[in-house]
Amino acid sequence: MKKIAIFGSTGSIGINSINVIKNNPNLFEVDTLVAKSNHRLLISQAIELKVKNVVIIDEEFYQETKSEINKKLPNCQVLSSFSGLIEVAKIKYDLVISAIVGIAGMIPSITAIQAGSNIAIANKESIVCGAEMFIEEAKKNQVKIIPIDSEHNAIFQIFEKENLDKISSITLTASGGPFFNSNIDFADISVAQALNHPNWQMGKKISIDSATMMNKGLEMIEAFYLFELKQEQINILIHPQSIIHGIVEYSDGSNLAVMSKPDMRIPISYSLNYPIRTAFDQTKLDLTKIAKLEFFPPNDKKFSSINLCKEALRNGHSSVISLNAANEIAVQSFLEGKISFDKIVKIISQVIEKIEAKKITSFAEIIDLDKRAREIADEIVAKNK
Ligand code: NDP
Repeated sequence: MKKIAIFGSTGSIGINSINVIKNNPNLFEVDTLVAKSNHRLLISQAIELKVKNVVIIDEEFYQETKSEINKKLPNCQVLSSFSGLIEVAKIKYDLVISAIVGIAGMIPSITAIQAGSNIAIANKESIVCGAEMFIEEAKKNQVKIIPIDSEHNAIFQIFEKENLDKISSITLTASGGPFFNSNIDFADISVAQALNHPNWQMGKKISIDSATMMNKGLEMIEAFYLFELKQEQINILIHPQSIIHGIVEYSDGSNLAVMSKPDMRIPISYSLNYPIRTAFDQTKLDLTKIAKLEFFPPNDKKFSSINLCKEALRNGHSSVISLNAANEIAVQSFLEGKISFDKIVKIISQVIEKIEAKKITSFAEIIDLDKRAREIADEIVAKNK
């Protein structure tokens, strides 16, 4: 039995992970669940899975969460706040599912790596902001990082480390999001329209990132650090059907690709069971029903976010941290109705311009820079009102 922790159990990835785990109850024992404020769902998950540790970040829900869980599970440890999260991250698990959204997931993931737990990582912002330091920490502690993101999970499955020097390039596919084929003026896009992703049901932040295509830019940065490639080796290809998730091209002309239905439970199942495979999905991929697979180059003029991410990566780690922080603030501001959709990428670009690139040598410096970039982004948002 694998001992599992799920950081972000009440989110889209967390719920899908529990679904996969319940499909194979003899293989997994869920020890720890973490959520921010959705205490009702957290309580029911904890009781159903009979977990040993629960963290509810928002302290206002702590008493109710603790008393409800301890009525059924008297020995379950219930903690709150960031310190509670760090306490459970120090426990050694066979696998931690890192599914908190945003940079908030970085220090808990690093703590888990330092405790020797393998990580199945959905929280791309951790890798984007932690960069080489994140990967080095995993190597130092001899833990495996298994990417859950469908594109990176695909590349992970076909990335032959023994043929590293024969890898010409990798390709991350993108559905194109809700506005790929639309002529709508970006200033007029509503929150509901931006959240309406054609192929995937996801949390709000990643749904907006997909609509701006910032998600693909962040994924390009994630792949750069995760697979230790050159920036020029990472391609992005629009593939509206979301059947092919990632392609590795080798120098002998072979292109290996992973195909599956667009269902996050498939890469989650792979990550949970790695290095073996376990039966999960009974409804098979039927290519005759899909009939056509289409591919288009990204439209850089319409979606300037991808070039912004490329530029930040060329500038270096500090620009990437600023980009991520500014994006988190801009997306939240759009969701709260403070700015229009077209302002998201403009604000990120303005924040990057205002922060001088510098060498980053510690996680404390990442947190400091993230805070500064957020403050600048908040100021710009306030002026845009
Ligand atoms: P959701 O918003 O659906 O869920 C986020 C989870 O994190 C929730 O459990 C939430 O708790 C918890 N959380 C939020 N803030 C904090 C915090 N400060 N401390 C602790 N827990 C917190 O997001 P998704 O599941 O969609 O995405 C999670 C991550 O996975 C993101 O980084 C995303 O980019 C990545 N990802 C997601 C995919 C998807 O299909 N959804 C696909 C590929 C990657 P609460 O519910 O209480 O607020």
